Amino acid sequence: MILFVQTAFLGDLLLSIPTLRALKVQYPDKKIHLVCRKGLGKVLLHLGVVDEVFDQFKKTKPSLQEWRALFKNRSYDLLICPHESLRSKWMSALVKAKKKIGYRSVLGNFVFDVMEERPMQWPEALRQLFLIRALAPELAQRFLELPKVFQIFHTIPDWASMNLYSLKEKRAVREKFFSDYNLDTQKPLIAIAPGSVWPTKRWTSEGFTDVAKHFIDKQHQVVIIGSPDEKSIADAIAEKVPRALNLCGKTALTELTSVLAACDLLIGNDSGSMHLAAVVSTPAVSIFGPTILEFGYQPWMDHFQLIEERGLKCRPCSSHGGKVCPIGTHECMKMIHSSRIISASETLLAIK
Ligand code: SF4
Repeated sequence: MILFVQTAFLGDLLLSIPTLRALKVQYPDKKIHLVCRKGLGKVLLHLGVVDEVFDQFKKTKPSLQEWRALFKNRSYDLLICPHESLRSKWMSALVKAKKKIGYRSVLGNFVFDVMEERPMQWPEALRQLFLIRALAPELAQRFLELPKVFQIFHTIPDWASMNLYSLKEKRAVREKFFSDYNLDTQKPLIAIAPGSVWPTKRWTSEGFTDVAKHFIDKQHQVVIIGSPDEKSIADAIAEKVPRALNLCGKTALTELTSVLAACDLLIGNDSGSMHLAAVVSTPAVSIFGPTILEFGYQPWMDHFQLIEERGLKCRPCSSHGGKVCPIGTHECMKMIHSSRIISASETLLAIK
């Protein structure tokens, strides 16, 4: 059995998919268990990349007591921890496993048997995959062939892809979704995801409203998506665009995966929805504000358009976004005009 410890937010967890897939290929007979944040595991179970998930805790992450109870009578062949927090490391130390793998750090010396440098020159999906390169010789070879300095990946290598839906599966999901919601199969369907865990990473409500109106006026179909925490943001848009289908807060993550699979395009922030779109190979227009692609969290898909305000000296201001803009202007988002989003969306919609 293999234990994968990843208690980061949804986006990072989804970016673990290439690593989990590679583990499945390398160890087809071993069960993969995943520990992740509360309520996030089911989607990976549904996607078939893990066999069991531990994600039912009192708070978002397991307490020491819950962790002890969970792993007291379990032992693993392999533990892999791509999450760099002190907490994840010392919790990994408490699990019985023949071999433990994590990134190099001072505390890591006391926890892991195998440590790798975190290769910051590559996007996060590759950084995580790099952790297990010693387990799969052909993987180690692939990394030798990658560029040595940072670059945006516009074509995702098959061996590192997080796309889990074939065209046939996408078509079937789309047919069912269109039929369930009585949508017109002749018109494109665009998902709008206006939320993000971090308020500074959210583009403006007015901007999303303009974009939604534009596409509704163009006889396209729009669905607004997001988590229950993002409902007020979605409702404000839906109120002004009543012909949009508002599913925000009404879909569990597994259903949200199907909604995205049914869509022709996602328009959203640098958020979990963007990474979920990569899982189902739905193109995305991604709006970046306080964060930049160089941090490694690019949409891990072949077809995406990045929208950002390049000239701002204050960017980036935080590694993952923050609750409030440190200079009080939030111009990294406010300066982005809806015409740029519309134009990028039309470019992606034109790709068939
Ligand atoms: S400091 Fe700049 S990059 Fe950061 S949130 Fe404010 S406007 Fe955006």
